[in-house]
Amino acid sequence: MENLTLNEVYRRGEATLEGAGVPDAEVDALYLTENIFGADRTALILHGDRPADSGLCRRFFDCIDERASGRPLQYIMGTWNFMGYDFYVGEGVLIPRDDTETTVLRALKLLNGREAPRVIDLCSGSGAIAISLKKMMPQAQVTALELSEDALGYLKRNAERNGAEITIVKGDVSTDAEKFADGSFDMIVSNPPYIISNQIDTLQRELSYEPRMALDGGKDGLDFYRIITERWAAKIKPNGWLVYETGEDEHEATADIMKASGFCDISYDLDLQMYKRTTYGRFGK
Ligand code: GLN
Repeated sequence: MENLTLNEVYRRGEATLEGAGVPDAEVDALYLTENIFGADRTALILHGDRPADSGLCRRFFDCIDERASGRPLQYIMGTWNFMGYDFYVGEGVLIPRDDTETTVLRALKLLNGREAPRVIDLCSGSGAIAISLKKMMPQAQVTALELSEDALGYLKRNAERNGAEITIVKGDVSTDAEKFADGSFDMIVSNPPYIISNQIDTLQRELSYEPRMALDGGKDGLDFYRIITERWAAKIKPNGWLVYETGEDEHEATADIMKASGFCDISYDLDLQMYKRTTYGRFGK
């Protein structure tokens, strides 16, 4: 490969992504430049005219080609930041989204003032919610429940990577509530699969790389809100909380499901795009 400067490498990467119709081509090219050359935007401005190492260039352009073919940036990098913590990600586990910070922040607010609260994160995936909660509220006793073997591998490694002492349980939300005594938890938190089955294939192509079981919420997207609310409500202490991430336009239906199972003070938080992204309520009076 001819000798290219760091700036030229970055610009070629961006142009390739742009040409392939990748949304946010510039941002993705910058992420990969930083990931592979250790050069962020400032370094590019200051030292962009320096020659780029040819071995690293090959790696960079391989990554650019993968991204151009549709593989999510997060899987290519193998690591992604959520709430200031780094998480291993890859095929087999849902990528943590910024939207989910809304849910973690609400959970922290609701737990504030409780001593050593017990929390369970259902459908935990990479552990983004469980681990960041534990890191930000060390006195909490956090359990993470996950069914997929692949996701469990990431979950364990992410807990270690972040030094988060949480309890990890392999289990199915549909059948395993009975493994926990009634009134076990101050809070249940969950970002369950919530996309309407027949819409999954119409969304961004990147989603097709992510595990369908982490996305598919059934015919109306609400299957897991029904299952979790109905089967797990009794596991929450009186005056404890159920906190969900909800899909776009799912707040009202989820609130109705919660009301029917004895929840009150039901409310929501907006995400940065103004969707009602977090739905939460108090169990019993
Ligand atoms: N937030 C994801 C998306 O819309 C969906 C995650 C989920 O189903 N819990 O891309």
